Amino acid sequence: ITVLGIETSCDETSAAILVDGVDLRSNIIASQIDTHKKFGGVVPEVASRKHLENVNPVILEALDKAGATLADLDAVAVTYGPGLVGALLVGVAAAKALAYALDIPLIGVNHLEGHISANFLVRPELEFPLLCLVVSGGHTDLVYMPHRGSYQLLGRTRDDAAGEAFDKVARAMGLGYPGGPLIDKLSKEGDPNAIKLPRAFLEEGSLDFSFSGLKSAVLNYLNRAGQRKEEVNKADLAASFQRAVVEVLVEKTFIAAQGCGVKTIMLAGGVAANRSLRERLLLRAAEAGCRVVFPPLDLCTDNAAMIACAGYYKYLRSDFAGLTLNAVPGLALGQDQYEGPENQG
Ligand code: ATP
Ligand code: MG
Ligand code: FE
Repeated sequence: ITVLGIETSCDETSAAILVDGVDLRSNIIASQIDTHKKFGGVVPEVASRKHLENVNPVILEALDKAGATLADLDAVAVTYGPGLVGALLVGVAAAKALAYALDIPLIGVNHLEGHISANFLVRPELEFPLLCLVVSGGHTDLVYMPHRGSYQLLGRTRDDAAGEAFDKVARAMGLGYPGGPLIDKLSKEGDPNAIKLPRAFLEEGSLDFSFSGLKSAVLNYLNRAGQRKEEVNKADLAASFQRAVVEVLVEKTFIAAQGCGVKTIMLAGGVAANRSLRERLLLRAAEAGCRVVFPPLDLCTDNAAMIACAGYYKYLRSDFAGLTLNAVPGLALGQDQYEGPENQG
């Protein structure tokens, strides 16, 4: 089964060809980072326009690199939410056109289901039940999966997402955008215990997260140093901030794993690329007798391979969307909404 995956939910235009859920023939990613860098974040209107320019060339390049033609495709899988509505619409329209013209199934994929599925692409043998910590630019979710395609949200962030906190702190420190990889790198030279920063564990028993207090503490630290004209050791600050984020993520993940009796924990989303998060999850897993798995580094951030993989499993269940599929910017995990507004009521 050959699936074309398309991803345009944020600032990456991506297309991938995946055979039988594991054989990745191509995964082309046109990143708009350079375009949005000068604004310090993603500008939605600019993103839509860039997707429009890139989507067809990226799809053609994915086919070309895979040595495939349109006639080889068995299905088209596309991200239809959550994300920026104008950005999502570009991918959805392209996927609908292809599915219609080729008369093959159209599969609507939740972007977060895609992030999670990056794990299945390299480890199709993983057995349920599973627990997944999804940490990305827009989400920090603890998700329990009793079986494939079933998602129960155990906890989520109440304010900033983990990746968002990395990006905002990096911006305040003058490091650049996106901030996660830059803080990760700088942290290697810093002492994670040098600066005392708060950890928000919230009420007893809660699996929710909160990172805005930590972010404010870093901003206050920078302001105070600025007023006193003191040098800030950026490596120490980066390492201390990263440690504070990672400690809470790891702690809550293991409380959740214990609570639902899960032995295998998956990590997913852009922040899953974080070196310290991976290391400390592995350490903790060894102590707890659990297993932790990660997607390959290049499949942590947005890409179409993960969307094609999620699409493959939906194909096996004949979970098809139909040509009325519309973008759903606020789509929740496990709550597919295939019907476009034109069909409601
Ligand atoms: P969402 O998936 O929630 O819709 P998104 O698609 O914008 O949001 P991703 O592409 O999954 O987010 O991840 C991007 C985020 O990951 C950014 O916030 C970025 O800073 C962060 N990130 C990437 N690499 C690292 C790293 N090594 N350490 C920490 N954060 C990282
Ligand atoms: Mg991105
Ligand atoms: Fe993402």
